[in-house]
Amino acid sequence: AAARATEMERASTEREKTGVFTGSRAVNPATGERIPIWIADYVMTTYGAGAIMAVPAHDQRDFEFARALRLPIRVVIAPAEGPVPDPATMLAAIVAPGTMVNSGPLTGTPGEAAVQRSTAYLEEKGIGKAAVAFRLRDWLISRQRYWGAPIPILYCDRCGVVPVPEKDLPVLLPDVPFIGKMGLADISGYADTTCPRCGRRARRETDTMDTFVDSSWYYLRYISPHEDEVPFVSADANRWLPVELYVGGVEHAILHLLYARFITKALHDLGYVAFDEPFKRLFSQGMVCHTAYKCPDHGWLYPKEAVALRCAKCGKPVETAYFSMSKSKRNVVEPAEIIARYGADTVRLYTLFMGPPDRDIEWSEDGIRGAWRFLNRLWNLVLGQLPRISPVREDPDPRGFDPAAAALWQKLHVTIKKVTEEFAERLGLNTAIAAIMELVNEISAYVERPEANAALVRRAIHDAILLLSPFTPFLAEELSRRVGEERPVLETPWPVHDPAALVGGEVEIPVQINGKVRARLRVAAHAAADPDALREAVLASKDVQERLQGHEVQRLIVVPGKLVSIVVR
Ligand SMILES: [Zn+2]
Ligand SMILES: [Zn+2]
Repeated sequence: AAARATEMERASTEREKTGVFTGSRAVNPATGERIPIWIADYVMTTYGAGAIMAVPAHDQRDFEFARALRLPIRVVIAPAEGPVPDPATMLAAIVAPGTMVNSGPLTGTPGEAAVQRSTAYLEEKGIGKAAVAFRLRDWLISRQRYWGAPIPILYCDRCGVVPVPEKDLPVLLPDVPFIGKMGLADISGYADTTCPRCGRRARRETDTMDTFVDSSWYYLRYISPHEDEVPFVSADANRWLPVELYVGGVEHAILHLLYARFITKALHDLGYVAFDEPFKRLFSQGMVCHTAYKCPDHGWLYPKEAVALRCAKCGKPVETAYFSMSKSKRNVVEPAEIIARYGADTVRLYTLFMGPPDRDIEWSEDGIRGAWRFLNRLWNLVLGQLPRISPVREDPDPRGFDPAAAALWQKLHVTIKKVTEEFAERLGLNTAIAAIMELVNEISAYVERPEANAALVRRAIHDAILLLSPFTPFLAEELSRRVGEERPVLETPWPVHDPAALVGGEVEIPVQINGKVRARLRVAAHAAADPDALREAVLASKDVQERLQGHEVQRLIVVPGKLVSIVVR
């Protein structure tokens, strides 16, 4: 009976434990104690060798087994708080970490060091050593369905199992209309073939491979998509791989990624690739969530079927809940409708702007309208500036900048740096977009100035378009053409920030008191361009404070980037 228990049954703590004493004993090499050997029905046959040292005080299933069969229980880990429990009255195993007790020379070892010190002790005594145990099992890859790579095997009554000769590879899926859950065995004639060894009639294997087989090495095939003779060219794979960044749902982390890593490691050991990990970095994106509506009679409703929180079919009040978008809960947004109304670039921009890409985010119609308005503002800005920037060919010269120009120049370079770093490191694409929006706002404010530097405006608009291009590729391409770029955006180098521009220059601001210049302040260009910051900087200046002593400030006029005038009494 013990041998027949399934793994699920074995793992259960609900089930009553049964077992038989073998009559044999093992010697504990650490203490010399003789320990009874039992056959039990709850030990995992796949765990280690399938024979375990029971620890009844600290494993719930060992505890239940010991209780059921009246075996001794010895506490060897004391809980962090309170006295060491009496085994006779314990109700459950103590599984929390704690300090080792009743453990000979190891007594007193704190929980965090217990594994390492116990292992070291065994190694020192020459009675054991640390080992890594793998739980690798065979992978059954055959599937009884159409979609998958056919397994290139034939069956011949005389020759047995025969691999399809290499010259006949690959075995392609038959080109037939696909029906429901059809497998290759359902396609008449598919299995009939002749044996390549004896020429008699033979049958093809009709199972296909699990599609996890394909996804275990597709990244290698992508490198050599046109190769007919080999799956991939090692030299090319070694040049382009491993994959820098893998973006995928966290659900891939257990199956697909393990298979892919295993196959890569095997190919590495066999000498086909120089790397032994297929992906350098994994990024798991969050889900897009939306309100779901449920009618007590009609089940899940589409948003338009829930009018004013009532079912459009029967009028009953609906329940609402918040879930990641799924077809079954009908809380999805139809992309085609949204794209028709706002354009694909708006949807892209909004989706990436909604929140950090690794978190779940809530879809909102207001949000998408906000993204749409921003793109319209940008469009109008660029088209409105064409008369100013079209004649310009030269790059701006920061040495000739007035404070407002210096501030925009600094903002441009700060933004380039920020967006570039978000792509390269943090993947905070939402904050990258926010930074571009700020930049566009500053450009919009700057171009209102009659004395605006046309070369600077041209450069700022040009770079803003490039920075936005990964998010809104169509719009970026269109705007880029409109401002006179010959090259497609995709072939234009990514902008590079100038470290000197990040600091921002200082400008001299004259401070008038009652109409006479009484002080000249050095103020950071970006502060000088901002009325509040400039006012603060002037009032904080020691020089100005001394001159204002004993006077009452009646008026303070700030001309950003130019001058501060104070009227005192
Ligand atoms: Zn044969
Ligand atoms: Zn209803």
